[in-house]
Amino acid sequence: MADEASSSSAPVLAVDAAALGAVADALPPEEMTLVVKWRGQEQTVRMVGDDTLGELKLRICEVTGVLPKRQTLLYPKLMLKDVDDSALLSSIPFKPNGKISMVGTVEEEIYVGQEDAPEVLDDLDFEQNEVTAIKDKDVYKQKLKRRASQYKIKLLNPCRKGKKLLVLDIDYTLFDHKSSAENPEELMRPYLHQFLTAAYSKYDIMIWSATSMKWVELKMEQLGVLSNPDYKITALMDHLAMITVQSENLTKKQTFDCKPLGVIWAQFPEYYNEKNTIMFDDLRRNFVMNPQNGLVIKPFKKAHSYRDGDHELVKLTHYLLTIADLEDFSKLDHSKWESFRDEGAKRRRHR
Ligand code: MG
Repeated sequence: MADEASSSSAPVLAVDAAALGAVADALPPEEMTLVVKWRGQEQTVRMVGDDTLGELKLRICEVTGVLPKRQTLLYPKLMLKDVDDSALLSSIPFKPNGKISMVGTVEEEIYVGQEDAPEVLDDLDFEQNEVTAIKDKDVYKQKLKRRASQYKIKLLNPCRKGKKLLVLDIDYTLFDHKSSAENPEELMRPYLHQFLTAAYSKYDIMIWSATSMKWVELKMEQLGVLSNPDYKITALMDHLAMITVQSENLTKKQTFDCKPLGVIWAQFPEYYNEKNTIMFDDLRRNFVMNPQNGLVIKPFKKAHSYRDGDHELVKLTHYLLTIADLEDFSKLDHSKWESFRDEGAKRRRHR
């Protein structure tokens, strides 16, 4: 199919994503409507100019079920396969209601390749000033604001007054999505249900994964998380609630998606805020918009080998319960959670 596009007699436009992206940054984001044609069916997707090509692929994934890495996008006179996923849509000369043809097949295997991009990129080791630079940038604050108004969080269970909020990643945090098994429970992080039961006494729980809602629901159902009588999940969130940002590190510019908690805080301000929310994720970069609220959990990988020795969720239960009555989490340094737990235990012993 790519040959078909390149052998066309029309000139092929080279897209200088970086240069055009810089110009687009200065302009207000423009709404755009694109039509995606796949297997004879047409789907309309609405985007804004400062969404990236990668975000467009995620949106296409949402309407077709074809994972971004399986998509080949074809557009007249453009070599989209040569455009980086970080390119802003405003930098690509799409026409209004332009028709994109997509070639790709739906992933049949459930437990393979769900988490997008993170496997390709190393987790970025952010400098503190760099984090501040990203979270304070107007363009990302605007993006967050738009995401918070576009993405409606569907409550599975009501928010509870007086509870803190615990936001959990799935892949490598609660579940080893890369190993294969006959039964998904074999890939579940040990003590998951005990952990959720204990946390539920003090926290509302939301689960936020960088995959599509279909997979989030399926995985959580299969692990019995949505039907456990001992705790309730407040809401599930997927990749569409994420925003794309670019690391400011001049030596290594990288574009990546992150999970801005502001999407939640904006929708439930009477319950959750930066002082009472904590988020567990195995990827530090997911916290870049709210570094104070993130706790980097040791990834749970190779479940068959490491299942027996993994007690992270037990240890983290102690931490969560130890800090649960504090007024303000924003003063805590979650990177020192293991020693805080010890000090807490010491304090209790001396009481
Ligand atoms: Mg993960």
